[in-house]
Amino acid sequence: MFLRHLKKIKEKINLRLAALYAIIFVLSSVLLFILIYFFLSSALRKEDQTSMHLKLLELWASYETGGIETLGRQVTVEKIMGEKRFSLIRVADRMKNTIFLILPDSWRGIPTSQLQRIYTSPNHTLVKIQINGIQFYIETASLNLPDGNKLQVGMNVTGRIHALQRFREIFMLIIIPFTLICFVAGMVLASRSFQPLRRLASVVRKIIETGKIEDRILTTDRGNELDELVRLFNRMLERIERLVEAMRGALDSVAHELRTPLTRLRGSAEAALQSSNDPETLANALEESIEESENILAMLNTLMDISEAETGVMKLDRQIIDIASVISDITELYRYIADEKKLILSVDTPPELYIKADVSRIRQVIANLLENAIKYTPHKGHIKINVSTDGPQVTVVVKDTGLGIPESDLNNIWDRHYRGLHGHSHHGLGLGLSFVKAIVEAHNGSVHVHSRPGQGSEFSFSLPLQ
Ligand code: ADP
Repeated sequence: MFLRHLKKIKEKINLRLAALYAIIFVLSSVLLFILIYFFLSSALRKEDQTSMHLKLLELWASYETGGIETLGRQVTVEKIMGEKRFSLIRVADRMKNTIFLILPDSWRGIPTSQLQRIYTSPNHTLVKIQINGIQFYIETASLNLPDGNKLQVGMNVTGRIHALQRFREIFMLIIIPFTLICFVAGMVLASRSFQPLRRLASVVRKIIETGKIEDRILTTDRGNELDELVRLFNRMLERIERLVEAMRGALDSVAHELRTPLTRLRGSAEAALQSSNDPETLANALEESIEESENILAMLNTLMDISEAETGVMKLDRQIIDIASVISDITELYRYIADEKKLILSVDTPPELYIKADVSRIRQVIANLLENAIKYTPHKGHIKINVSTDGPQVTVVVKDTGLGIPESDLNNIWDRHYRGLHGHSHHGLGLGLSFVKAIVEAHNGSVHVHSRPGQGSEFSFSLPLQ
């Protein structure tokens, strides 16, 4: 139980991060301390060694001038003057016998063995001695005199050694509480930084538990990577929500709209079965069934296209196209039907106008508007297509002198399956205008309508110019 709890704690990211901060802090502090300690101790040591070297040269000069007597006199004078840095000054002959020795008064009674250790120690090594229970550190340096004797000085470096020791102790005293502070600060910082992630986890948990995706994660304006992640996650949720809503809407309308054609299909099949094999009735029933199933297929395909365009998942093959020439081509296709109804179909476009769009989808948009205009305009009417630019936009207007749309219908004609006043007396699925709107908006454009009953309608759409 305890081990599981411990494992859980260890797995917490903020704890691991805090521990990492603390380790980095300790390692860098130790490294810094080692560097400072190394430079400080070697600088102090070097200074002591230089002093010893200078002292040796000074004593060497005295010895050169007047031998041991002059050397003795100089050392005595310096001792009287209070020179305390050099604890030991010694001259030894070739046989290593001491022929001159000056020691501090406090060293009186020092065991010969300790003195011997100092005499024989190599240059610049530390010799630890005990005088009256107190520990001293002595460093020596020596020089060969011209007559073959050896001059040796010993310096009391206890102060230096103690200072460095104190420095080490202080560092150890500081590093422990500082590591703890660093760990706690790291915990607080890491916990603060992971707040957005915790919020994200709680929202995801709620979504999984309830299946509802309306919840959003609170964002802050710190502008760091986690905030960005949360913002992106919210956007993803919005997109999923829109997709789910659109799917639900499409499913509802499919279920609703399929009922009538399927009932009709079933009706003609049943009628055919009861017709006691009359070939003409059977052929008619089959014909009706094919027509009905084609209608169903067309409706399903258009509904799918509308849903995909509305939710932004439709794959648009955007290419630079000359909208003026696309319109001219389509108009030529519909000219025959317009002629049949004795409608005057005219087009007014600039020679070239480029937009970036999916040409097949834009063709369908223009075709739908043109089809409606032909459908809802009585004989000898007039249909005019006009293309113009307005700043960064190109606008295509399909104007007819047809039946027009009552004001009460105007707000709903872009809805799926909405059929207006005149719609019911004409063949159609009520999906044409919602398809137009969805495709134009998927191209970042907009749709508009102006209409008056009995005077005609003006449908237009605008798209960004290339
Ligand atoms: P459908 O034409 O299949 O009914 P649409 O979505 O294309 O479906 O049009 C919706 C409704 O808008 C139509 O039922 C009709 O009432 C009205 N409408 C569309 N275009 C025109 C037009 N050019 N003139 C008059 N009414 C129109």
